[in-house]
Amino acid sequence: MIVAAVLVAAGSGSRLAAGMPKAFVEVSDRTLLEHAAERFLSHPAVRDVVVVVPAELVDPATAQLAEIVDGYKKLRGRPGFEGLSDMPSVVPGGSTRQESVFRGLTALAEDVELVLVHDVARAFVPAAVIGRVVDALEAGADAVVPTVPVTDTLRSVGPDGLGPTVDRAGLVAVQTPQGFRRPVLDAAHSSAAGSSATDDASLVESDDVRVVAVPGASEAFKVTVPLDLALAEVVANRV
Ligand code: C5P
Repeated sequence: MIVAAVLVAAGSGSRLAAGMPKAFVEVSDRTLLEHAAERFLSHPAVRDVVVVVPAELVDPATAQLAEIVDGYKKLRGRPGFEGLSDMPSVVPGGSTRQESVFRGLTALAEDVELVLVHDVARAFVPAAVIGRVVDALEAGADAVVPTVPVTDTLRSVGPDGLGPTVDRAGLVAVQTPQGFRRPVLDAAHSSAAGSSATDDASLVESDDVRVVAVPGASEAFKVTVPLDLALAEVVANRV
C-alpha cells in the first residue's frame, strides 16, 4: 500500500527555551528537522513525506530538505537505497498541533492509502518503529500507536492537591509515528475541527475506531526541555 508521512514541526518549542522553533535547534550539527526527515525519507516503506513548519520558516526548511534529497541522488538505485523518497512538500502549520496535522493531510497526493503522523520533536525514532507501525496497518489495523512502559510512579492531581497513586502496570506512554488508514484519519480531522486532542489516535477513537499498539522505543523520546538536548546528542551519535 502507498504510505506517506506527515512530519509536524510547527510548534514554538517554548519549553525548550532555545530562542527558535524546536525543529531548527541543532543536535550534532544538524537540525532536529533534518534528523527526523532523514529517517522517513530513507525508509523503504515510506513513499512520500510532507513537512509542516512555522509559516516564516517554509523557505529555510525547504533548503535543508533539498540538501538531504540532493545528497541522496548519488545513492539512488544502489542496493539498500531503493526506498529513497522525493523532495517533501513543505507547508505552513497552524496554531495548534491538530491544525498543523490537518494542513499536512491536505498536501498529500490523491493515491496515498496509509498515513503516518510524526512529531519532529521525536527526531531519533528508529526505523524499526516506523516499520512496526506500517506492518500493523498492512496487516489490517485502522490505527496504530507505538507505546513504551511508564517508569515513573504516577499520581492523579486535583484542586485539593495530590490524588491517589495510579497503578503504572496498567499504563503506557504513547509515541509517534502514529499510523492510520487515510479515510479514518481524514474523517476524524473533519469531524473534530477545533478539539484539543494532543495526538491523532485520540481523535480517531472519538469516531469509535480501534487503536492497536506496537512496541515503541526509548530513542523515540520527545525533545521537550533543555536537558533532552544532552540525551539527543548521545542518541544522534549512536544511531
Ligand atoms: O507541543 P508538543 O510537544 O505536543 O508538539 C508535538 C509536535 O507537534 C511537535 O513536533 C511540534 O512542532 C508540533 N506542533 C505543530 N504545530 C503546532 C504545535 C505543535 O506542528 N501549532
